Amino acid sequence: ARKFFVGGNWKCNGTTEEVKKIVTKLNEAEVPSEDVVEVVVSPPFVFLTLVKSLLRSDFHVAAQNCWVRKGGAFTGEVSAEMLVNLNIPWVVIGHSERRALLNESNEFVGDKVAYALSQGLKVIACIGETLEQRESGSTMTVVAAQTKAIADKVTNWENVVLAYEPVWAIGTGKVATPAQAQEVHCELRKWLHDNVGAGVAASTRIIYGGSVNGANCKELAAQPDVDGFLVGGASLKPEFIDIIKAAT
Ligand code: 13P
Repeated sequence: ARKFFVGGNWKCNGTTEEVKKIVTKLNEAEVPSEDVVEVVVSPPFVFLTLVKSLLRSDFHVAAQNCWVRKGGAFTGEVSAEMLVNLNIPWVVIGHSERRALLNESNEFVGDKVAYALSQGLKVIACIGETLEQRESGSTMTVVAAQTKAIADKVTNWENVVLAYEPVWAIGTGKVATPAQAQEVHCELRKWLHDNVGAGVAASTRIIYGGSVNGANCKELAAQPDVDGFLVGGASLKPEFIDIIKAAT
């Protein structure tokens, strides 16, 4: 069975005071045990060590990005080795905001995922189509190409969580319907089965992201191929606790 996974992507938000408040709320929450739900929150780089030091030990932290290869003369970047050095276990790679605004290509994302894994990080790898791509009927072609670019470089999928985040659903309030999410997750699992292997297809968590909130999470979580969530806006609010409990 695939353990339910709930990630909170804080994106480029927060002050020290706000971050402390959010962590306090998380620490007070009554949630299912770590054996049932894996919870990972992803603050901006500058708050990573603060959050890690304050956060309850059954919740974990993720960076929102890292450099594609070994560190060095890359001004403004943070390397996978540095995250490992600080005992940050997870990193989010290939978020659509970075793909769109910073021109991260499928190949670059694939290289980054592979390098982060090679250094011992666990990776939340993001994929997803735009509205234009969905409306032209190319959703599966797009997400398969994004997944292939990762699969081309990755041999061990044990430490990969695949986050399907349709771009049209991110920050828009237009959540995918449970049926829309299930359809793509099921196709992605089939793709993994046919192109990577039956074991990887059966064991890899495929999580959904895009306007997930306390009200819509239960129905999405009930879909057989939805193994959790990557939550943006609602991960900064008290309803994140309800989302952590969505599968129970
Ligand atoms: P929202 O939940 O704010 O739509 O963002 C989703 C997301 O991008 C998570 O990575």
